[in-house]
Amino acid sequence: MCGIFGYVGTKNASEVILEGLKRLEYRGYDSWGIAVLADQIKINKKIGAIGDMDQVLNLPISGKGIGHTRWATHGGITEINAHPHYSSDKSFVLAQNGIVENYQKLKDYLLGKGYTFDSQTDTEVIVKLIEEKIKSLVISDQSNYLKEAVRSAFLELEGRNTIILLTRDGQIIAARNGSPLVVGINGEEVFFSSDTLSFAPHVDKVIVVDNGQMIAWNGKLELFDIKSNKSLSVKKEHIDFKSSKVDKEGYDHFMLKEIHEAPYVINQVLNQDLKLYEDFVKAIKKAKTVYTIGSGTAGIAASQIAFYLRVFAAVNARSVIGADIYEYYDLIGPDDLFIAPSQSGETADVLEVLEIARKKGAKIASYVNMLASTMSRISDFKFFSQAGPEICVMSTKVFTSQIAWGYLLSKIVQGKAEEGVRNLKILSDEVDQYLKTGSNHEDVKKIAHLLIKSKDVFMLGKYQNFNIVREGMVKIIEGSYIHAHAIPAGDLKHYAITLMEKGVPVVVATSNDVAQEDVANAINQVKARGATVIGISPVKHPGFDYHLKVSDSGETSAIANIIPLQLLAYYMAVELKHNVDKPRNIAKSVTVK
Ligand code: GLU
Repeated sequence: MCGIFGYVGTKNASEVILEGLKRLEYRGYDSWGIAVLADQIKINKKIGAIGDMDQVLNLPISGKGIGHTRWATHGGITEINAHPHYSSDKSFVLAQNGIVENYQKLKDYLLGKGYTFDSQTDTEVIVKLIEEKIKSLVISDQSNYLKEAVRSAFLELEGRNTIILLTRDGQIIAARNGSPLVVGINGEEVFFSSDTLSFAPHVDKVIVVDNGQMIAWNGKLELFDIKSNKSLSVKKEHIDFKSSKVDKEGYDHFMLKEIHEAPYVINQVLNQDLKLYEDFVKAIKKAKTVYTIGSGTAGIAASQIAFYLRVFAAVNARSVIGADIYEYYDLIGPDDLFIAPSQSGETADVLEVLEIARKKGAKIASYVNMLASTMSRISDFKFFSQAGPEICVMSTKVFTSQIAWGYLLSKIVQGKAEEGVRNLKILSDEVDQYLKTGSNHEDVKKIAHLLIKSKDVFMLGKYQNFNIVREGMVKIIEGSYIHAHAIPAGDLKHYAITLMEKGVPVVVATSNDVAQEDVANAINQVKARGATVIGISPVKHPGFDYHLKVSDSGETSAIANIIPLQLLAYYMAVELKHNVDKPRNIAKSVTVK
């Protein structure tokens, strides 16, 4: 995963690319680089977060360039390994998003041919392979030799990759197989990028480059099918970027701002015409198995969506995380339906599963936040969360949106759409009230202060709240780097009870539901061993040492419960002085496997 960016226009390319990279930084942020074309190609590479203009002043003013923000997979985080990479004669530079799975084989082959390598990246293997193609290919159309060499090299790469090249004679060429690539147009200006958000303020039209396609700018844009080399017609889509503002709006961090957007995103779920669900609901009812699928936080949302479908609509729904689908391969068939909630719509693990599911004839539905994503393009039923850009690498508002959508969907399938809509409206107001009340934040901060001193944080939940504590666990791990462990409340006595001793913190999320007595039992069991219990619930259980009170939201109670957990993870990360919006080692959109 990483972000690639390219620009052709009349503005100063370094400035435009720098701004684009900043917007792409959520995808990877260990190092970055910009290359622009003047009389030659000049590169500037840096380690760490994307800097400001003063860090690119050495680059000449130019209207053409490419940039990259890296999330290292092959080779350490060094300036040499940062992209873009020069070709040996500096006739082109290249940046890559992805992993060349057969890079060692290709590298051995190229070493055998006498090529040498400066970096440890798989990227440089692509560069040298293109050079080798330039040398060895018999190309009839000399005016197109570079495009031909790129095409031929790209066909040899295994894995999910997107590359972008800037050439000394002024071309930009980009090829896609797996990792995202979009092109934005504004009059004569052309932007190449990994997502639409990065150029949203500048463009009104977008070309989505599909897998197996290559796009080249050489005075004008040309689109090709990589395998057949056939030229394709360029389809420009109009995209409405109204809600793509990227601004902290006075909050200290994007995370806090995004948690506060929960009421808005819940209302956005309700902002879709219920008619859009008609065919989808029929397909759900017809399906033998409904698989809900996601990775990381979206995987937990997928699990909650499956929970709602089972509980409210008696649908045979099972959730799987993207990386773990193998054991189901032989079971998937044309009677099945896949539902994928995703922020980016580009998660590599999930896309791979969906592609296989599609080949096996299963139907695909997606609930995506990013416009023009691969996932929505391959879906039979497309839904958009319309939650606005989520910049913090830790997902909060999009998770809230995904589970609220899952709840509504299950109510529609149940035939109780109106009740679902009504409940979500009430929830949105309640969450708004909760977030606006200063004392709630003070209460959460006190708990955060307590938990940052712990080595382990245990979390208990059951029924509608088990995925909620799992997500709380994920947020705490991501933001504070403290070990958290979610335990199904009913299973506690079978193993994790051994870990309970004096002072161990146990965070419990519970609701007024069928599970509350079992959870109360679990609370008593951990209390009996001296644990400190922090309860998130509408009512105070006598075993709670601390109580974070939330509204009694009935069927949507679990959604109300996630808010204090998100705040808890936020205030822990803040007090630990961590980089809240960009936790170490993780990236937002995992477009590599
Ligand atoms: N595999 C390449 C590298 O390690 C690209 C990684 C990325 O997508 O950022 O440099």
